[in-house]
Amino acid sequence: MDYYGREMSSLIGELSKLPGIGPKTAQRLAFHIIRQDEEDVERLAHSITEAKKKIRYCNVCGTLTDTETCPICSSPRRNQAMIMVVETTQDLAAYEKTGRYNGVYHVLHGAISSSLGIGPGDIRLKELLVRLQGEVEEVIIATNSTLDGEATAMYISRLIKPTGIKVSRIANGVPVGGDLECVDEMTLVRALDGRTLL
Ligand code: ZN
Repeated sequence: MDYYGREMSSLIGELSKLPGIGPKTAQRLAFHIIRQDEEDVERLAHSITEAKKKIRYCNVCGTLTDTETCPICSSPRRNQAMIMVVETTQDLAAYEKTGRYNGVYHVLHGAISSSLGIGPGDIRLKELLVRLQGEVEEVIIATNSTLDGEATAMYISRLIKPTGIKVSRIANGVPVGGDLECVDEMTLVRALDGRTLL
């Protein structure tokens, strides 16, 4: 199988471990990299290793950041008493792009899924409950409108209700089965404005 020599095969092998990259794409990327200037390749390699070294999870909301507390959680201009619960950092980014949300977030890093065997203990729910002991007025549940996202929303609302804190769910404007990050900005704004109390 070593048609291209050991180094090239190893590069193709590493690239094909990336999600969504099959052997053919890995091969195309490897050839592209080899044709690039050494400087460009060094820059790429450098940003990969630096990102891995410096990017961490915010100690409050759990999003990816390069500071201990992310800029949203440490901003005095954001309403720290309003927490929007999302599945991923990409979902957070989608809402931030709309520029219409002034609260803070809580990133679960997943959703409860009976089919995938992901339980409540596997996502960042404990951390959410800890945050609710502070000054919180409303929790907006913005998990995806997939089966897993809905099950997670239900679970969270049951968890929060006894605390007396307001719990709401974003409106059904988000297409069923669609990842939040693929939804256009207007749809997200409508989903947020049309949220209903649980
Ligand atoms: Zn944060």
